Amino acid sequence: METGTSRGMAVKQEARLVGPVVLLGPPGAGKGTQAKRICQIFQIPQVSTGDILRDNIARGTEFGKQAEAHMNRGELVSDELVQRMVADRLAQPDCARGFILDGFPRTVNQAEWLDKHLAEHGFFVTEKGCKRLLVIQLEVAYTLLLGRLTGRRTCPTCGRIYNTNTAQQGSRVEGVCDVDGASLVTRKDDREDVIKERLKNYQTQTLPLVDYYARTNHVIEIDGSAEPDVITSAVVKAIENGNRL
Ligand code: AMP
Repeated sequence: METGTSRGMAVKQEARLVGPVVLLGPPGAGKGTQAKRICQIFQIPQVSTGDILRDNIARGTEFGKQAEAHMNRGELVSDELVQRMVADRLAQPDCARGFILDGFPRTVNQAEWLDKHLAEHGFFVTEKGCKRLLVIQLEVAYTLLLGRLTGRRTCPTCGRIYNTNTAQQGSRVEGVCDVDGASLVTRKDDREDVIKERLKNYQTQTLPLVDYYARTNHVIEIDGSAEPDVITSAVVKAIENGNRL
């Protein structure tokens, strides 16, 4: 049952300007898991370009058709395509108080586009100034990432992410979602050969973003190999303390 206090906290979060948050980190760093938790706490949407692309593929849209072959090979899809999807998503009213970008930007070109887009569309402008992008980097060793990605299972109904390689993140019944009982699925791009390609692309195309943001914003680094609850607390703290005007 909801108590007066918890309702009070929810109202506080619902009224609050959180601003734009970018979660950086290699595939398997836990961005999706953490983004879902943080969005619930701050009552803001998760904008995951991977999820939006997979949804387009499932619905057979033109975007999905253009992206599918690239995704199955572990390559990035074109900047123009993801930027169009992100622009559409950020224009939705639920993004007005803030959002968490998960899997975007992934190239310096996308990061430059995002800066320009937020400025040109007057995102998060208050009487005190413009709320800056908060960049959080989840760091995880390469060897750990492989294990996490090969064990990853997702609920196709609610999106919850499980892992068969870690006891704490397994489902109660093997292959079945704890929340809604749906059969868990393995992503097509979580095969070892594709995973290696995705990790290689991360090194060459996405890692330069850390330098880009280190020049323009303060990058908050968090150890992504810690327990999920510990990471969530660190991310919440970073948003509470770091996302100043
Ligand atoms: P993710 O779910 O974030 O791991 O993304 C899955 C796949 O979607 C990636 O391997 C890319 O093929 C594609 N993708 C997701 N986000 C982007 C992006 N920002 N830029 C280009 N491709 C993306």
